[in-house]
Amino acid sequence: MAKPRRKQPKTLVGVMLTLLITALAALGVIFVPDMLGNHTSAPVSGGEVQFHFIDVGQGDAALIRTEKGDILIDAGTNSSEDELKAYLDSLGVTDIEYAVFTHPHEDHIGGADMVLNTYNVKCVVLPDATATSKTFERMMDAIEAEKCDVMEAVPDKTFKVGELTCTILAPISTSYTETNNYSVVIRADYGDTSVLFTGDAEVDSEAEMLNRYQFKGTLDCDILKAGHHGSDTSSSQAFLDAVTPVHAVISVGEGNTYDHPKQEILARYEAMKLEIHRTDKEGSIVFTSTGGEPSKQ
Ligand SMILES: [Zn+2]
Repeated sequence: MAKPRRKQPKTLVGVMLTLLITALAALGVIFVPDMLGNHTSAPVSGGEVQFHFIDVGQGDAALIRTEKGDILIDAGTNSSEDELKAYLDSLGVTDIEYAVFTHPHEDHIGGADMVLNTYNVKCVVLPDATATSKTFERMMDAIEAEKCDVMEAVPDKTFKVGELTCTILAPISTSYTETNNYSVVIRADYGDTSVLFTGDAEVDSEAEMLNRYQFKGTLDCDILKAGHHGSDTSSSQAFLDAVTPVHAVISVGEGNTYDHPKQEILARYEAMKLEIHRTDKEGSIVFTSTGGEPSKQ
């Protein structure tokens, strides 16, 4: 009789300990990343970084996922807001360390208000360019309401999330006649992987970047987000020769009225034997890297 009686409390203690350990483990899972990385998104693991080129129709939206947090570059159109939200939610995104809105055109900032109103955006990166559109007003109102940091895009400025470094390469001038040339151009580096996000930067901005960076090898990248949806306003041969990408990603809507991407630009990419990836044909496109050659998922 004595043995079972002694065992009974021991078993209870065991159960309680198990419950306590389970509870602590659960708390650890939930709160440890928050304490370490100050975010609660389900991040990627194992030293992997992901580059998502999200299908938002005729527009741009890209997400860089690291172990320490997420970076969004553009937010698609007003009409693709729901698709963008569904995509980000499916990945478990809750916090965005940096949201870059490359220039104030609707096909890049249409979903900016949704992003700011839905997720915990810590810092917004903007060029010194304005617009009179309702879309731009909604974005600025949402930035004010979010009370997040605002970083003005200035060449050579860098920001980091974990081991991933973003360098702002453009805009270089302070005044352009074409709004596209205000596009914030970001080079993202993770180990030996480099990805160039060009927004809608046109040949004038490309020429400025060539002038400023070509002898430093700064433009040399593995993946190029094709400038201005593959339009012939961008992707000058001289620029491509400096970037020498392996992959060109074209973020473009099927049957768009602009006839993007232009045949001439596709031919230019093909002549350079670039691997061409298009969101109108493939949907969202994801590359992963552990610091070496990036590979397509
Ligand atoms: Zn655009």
